[in-house]
Amino acid sequence: MGKLTNCSKCGSVYVYDTHSYNVCPRCKSGYDVTYNLIRDYLMNHPNCSLMELATKFKLPVRTIKSYIEDDRLSIR
Ligand SMILES: [Zn+2]
Repeated sequence: MGKLTNCSKCGSVYVYDTHSYNVCPRCKSGYDVTYNLIRDYLMNHPNCSLMELATKFKLPVRTIKSYIEDDRLSIR
């Protein structure tokens, strides 16, 4: 059983389970697309900082952090 949690992106309540990220299913599709873009960017710019990513992708720093906390990205 999942637990109810708030989407880190849109704030709506959804059921979190081990297959979820910290965004609701509605946001997840866009989330994966953005993740792929950021991952590709980091491959080409491995020394990019969190702030640079946030500026580059016009995303809040906390959104970038949420990718990292999911262990899907690493920034030194
Ligand atoms: Zn959402």
